[in-house]
Amino acid sequence: MSIKITEECVACDACVPECPNEAISEGDVYVIDPDKCTECVGFHDAPMCAEVCPVDNCCIPDENHPEPVEQLLEKARKLHPDKEPDPSKVWSGVRG
Ligand code: SF4
Ligand code: SF4
Repeated sequence: MSIKITEECVACDACVPECPNEAISEGDVYVIDPDKCTECVGFHDAPMCAEVCPVDNCCIPDENHPEPVEQLLEKARKLHPDKEPDPSKVWSGVRG
């Protein structure tokens, strides 16, 4: 599943370089590819886009697509076959 970016986005570009999966693309409002977003599980203790975003309630969980931790880790492994995501790196907001 993924985090999603809301209409509050001011297109500041801060989130793009922080994403471990290159899941964020530019636009008037930036967009997260749900197939690439792992909620940063395996790499960071929090969704990095939400951490660096200067706007409140801009990078929020997409409640339409909950995924459990194991599924997010599996997605991270597929996106990074050369790395071993750290299963202890999980934020508290994972649903599913
Ligand atoms: S939560 Fe992490 S993986 Fe998902 S878009 Fe944000 S920075 Fe990228
Ligand atoms: S950091 Fe927040 S405001 Fe800036 S581009 Fe990303 S989602 Fe938009």
